[in-house]
Amino acid sequence: MNQDSIRQYLQFYRDLGVKEIYKRNSPSKTSSAAAPAPARELIEPAPAAEIVLPSLAPSDDTLLKIQQDIGDCKRCRLCEQRAKIVFGSGNQHARLVFVGEGPGADEDAQGLPFVGRAGQLLTQMIENTASKEGIPIKRPDVYICNVVKCRPPENRTPLPDEMEICGQFLFRQLMTIRPRAICALGSTAAKALLATKDGVTRLRGHWHKWRDIPLMVTYHPSYLLRPYNQNAKREAWEDLKTVLHYVYD
Ligand code: URA
Repeated sequence: MNQDSIRQYLQFYRDLGVKEIYKRNSPSKTSSAAAPAPARELIEPAPAAEIVLPSLAPSDDTLLKIQQDIGDCKRCRLCEQRAKIVFGSGNQHARLVFVGEGPGADEDAQGLPFVGRAGQLLTQMIENTASKEGIPIKRPDVYICNVVKCRPPENRTPLPDEMEICGQFLFRQLMTIRPRAICALGSTAAKALLATKDGVTRLRGHWHKWRDIPLMVTYHPSYLLRPYNQNAKREAWEDLKTVLHYVYD
């Protein structure tokens, strides 16, 4: 592996929030010196299984290639109960990408992101805010995807290893589209893209960066659907206004 790919792997793991990497030493024969001598011939330790690193983006990557690489994915347990893989939808040259957490029941059935109640609210938020602000865009003009591409059972939060495995595809989607800005919806998307433990309340309303792309965090539409979150709704509309003006003015 050359220096450039080592650097890319380190960047990849840093984005996933991995702060320390250590080298595993192969088991040494001297460490068993104190152990009683085996009756039978010493068996050589099997060579350590090769560590499979996640694939890095090829230089001529496309959304189609990423989708082909995902294939009929069985890389994690989320494949067991999914109906459809939800890759993403929208304009592949979008200036703005929204990233959610993972598919729910409607998305799993249709294979499309944000088509259930939360999705309808997201569509309304995008289209109504844009129209009020005089920005001529509709939902198909942006790109929408999730951190994990398969529905977690009972809509539970994706686990760290599921986010790590699927994160490589999300990162490739973002690198391929290279939008002017990214909007992370909720804390799972914020965690995956900013490698932070901070919550949405703290992160929202300010610009952050994913690699060199400006990123805004805002509330997840499912959170806004709960009747007692009226304040959050107002704040989410403010965040969206900021993002839309930044991207389309
Ligand atoms: N919630 C998400 O995070 N993503 C979807 O696609 C739908 C609901």
